[in-house]
Amino acid sequence: MAQPVLFVIDDDAGVVRALRDDLGRRFGRDFRVMGESSAAAGLSALRGLAELHEPVALLIVDHDMPQMPGVGFLARAHELHPLAKRVLLVERDYSAGSPIVRAMTLGQADYHITKPWMLEQDLYREVSGFLAEWAKDQEAGFELFHVVGGLQDRGTHELRELLTRFGEPFGFTTASSEPGRQLLAEHGLDGSRLPVMIRHDGYTMVEPTLDQIISAVGGSIANDVSECDVVVVGAGPAGLTAAVYAASEGLQTVSLEETVSGGQAGNSPMIRNYPGFPHGVSGHELTRRACEQAWMFGAHMVFAQPAGGLETRGGEHVVRLASGHHVAAKAVIVATGIAWRRLGVPRLEALVGSGVFYGAAGSELRAMEGRDVFVVGAGNSAGQTALYLARYARQVTMLVRGDNLERSMSDYLIQEIRATPNIAVRLRTEVTEGHGSDHLEALTLHDRLRDQAEQVPAAALFVLIGGEPRTQWLPAAVQLQWGYVLTGRDVVRDGSHPSRWPLDRAPLPLETSVPGVFAAGDVRYRSIKRVASAVGDGATVVRLVHEHLAAGQVLPAGAVTE
Ligand SMILES: Cc1cc2nc3c(=O)[nH]c(=O)nc-3n(C[C@H](O)[C@H](O)[C@H](O)COP(=O)(O)OP(=O)(O)OC[C@H]3O[C@@H](n4cnc5c(N)ncnc54)[C@H](O)[C@@H]3O)c2cc1C
Repeated sequence: MAQPVLFVIDDDAGVVRALRDDLGRRFGRDFRVMGESSAAAGLSALRGLAELHEPVALLIVDHDMPQMPGVGFLARAHELHPLAKRVLLVERDYSAGSPIVRAMTLGQADYHITKPWMLEQDLYREVSGFLAEWAKDQEAGFELFHVVGGLQDRGTHELRELLTRFGEPFGFTTASSEPGRQLLAEHGLDGSRLPVMIRHDGYTMVEPTLDQIISAVGGSIANDVSECDVVVVGAGPAGLTAAVYAASEGLQTVSLEETVSGGQAGNSPMIRNYPGFPHGVSGHELTRRACEQAWMFGAHMVFAQPAGGLETRGGEHVVRLASGHHVAAKAVIVATGIAWRRLGVPRLEALVGSGVFYGAAGSELRAMEGRDVFVVGAGNSAGQTALYLARYARQVTMLVRGDNLERSMSDYLIQEIRATPNIAVRLRTEVTEGHGSDHLEALTLHDRLRDQAEQVPAAALFVLIGGEPRTQWLPAAVQLQWGYVLTGRDVVRDGSHPSRWPLDRAPLPLETSVPGVFAAGDVRYRSIKRVASAVGDGATVVRLVHEHLAAGQVLPAGAVTE
């Protein structure tokens, strides 16, 4: 295959020459660096590369070319090379009026480079990062696993999603294709049971369970620690951060997760508002790194192990696992987040994973190329999902029950949605029925204003309508409000609540109504519902656990909570 191209375009031929030389010195062994100094010559060269099927990795375009603005050029060049990452070349100008601010908000560029650049600090470090992201999107490369399954099969969807969440490189072939049939035959299988997961060493699993998948990727599913300092329940951003800090500060830490780490954030393809990542960061990547970091500090990470109950006796808390095992701890951090609210349409529930997705399933978004898809919801998650889908789908329709987006969505997202031609917003509209036997084919939409129903063809439906806190497993002694855990000043201490706070001192800020049991992240009443705030809670709560342990307080005799 031809070497991938780094393509530079600037109307100043000196800038093009300097960039070509600088990039060539560092990346010239693996990439061909090309450049042009006019928009017309640039588009013609890129057209030629597209005709020869030569891949372009980066399009580096000056924002201010006289013949064509940089974002306009990027849009046309991206049509020719849709997998290339789009980089805008801008002046050093840290004002809100810088063209990159608007281009990023409207999704017209992926990254930027400032002029003039410093070689090591700016150019090489940043371009290496852009290329790493580009390389991730390429299908070729080492595969740890190969999945053979059905495009619309629920089990196949769940398996691909789990492998994506674990960051494992894997390939996928449909069972009905010729290569798929061949692969199955080579392993003595007929495709009657799908999905099939083939490890690089030939080890093959048919319809693998969650436990088998996690074991195959090297994750731990058994808890062999019966006593520790702190149990963290839930491995989303809050729980992972708590595990990082607790373990790094010398507390013996067990982290229990119902499925795999990442939480809701692990499903988010791009988080643009997490501090320190000006071009955004994939939620999956962020949480994968946090999980690895917690493990590196010595936290005992256990997957596929939901906590099923909690009992407190004196100073000791005992977490009951679904497996029947128990783990006792001096403190417990509840970081179980929220679960998506359901649409409650039985046909659509039956098609979950087969065209209907709760949340934005990272591995599926790109599969929507050229299709007509629908997003239900009016919050930021729904907006982000619609924008991400619009890069691949032919048409994205947002279905909103209310009469506006402003009440529930950030302004920058609303602006971006309005500026995206293939996103339509249908207000006062509900999904009342789904159609399709083994995969979603159509939806019935109800226009609430006109009281009219209409059936529309649909390749996929993404549901992002908020969620319910995951607190059903907690004992009655943990005070809840609308299902969320009350902490700190919100804990009711005046006797008006059936479960009493038993100590003279006030609860610590993230402490629940049970001394020594803390809550962090989305599961907490009045939490902010952002990755950064969940991370903040996770870091803060460990400081409070130290305070609790130092005080050595135990519950008064007779105070038993189950
Ligand atoms: C699609 C999407 C896009 C988003 N985009 C953004 C964004 O751009 N910016 C932003 O700031 N925020 C965003 N959010 C919100 C953000 O992801 C959440 O606020 C954040 O993940 C909350 O973290 P958490 O750790 O509190 O809970 P969660 O992420 O919900 O994690 C909770 C974890 O606990 C586990 N769990 C539940 N019950 C149990 C049990 N009994 N035992 C063991 N484990 C259990 C769950 O499996 C889960 O892994 C987005 C959310 C979604 C869904």
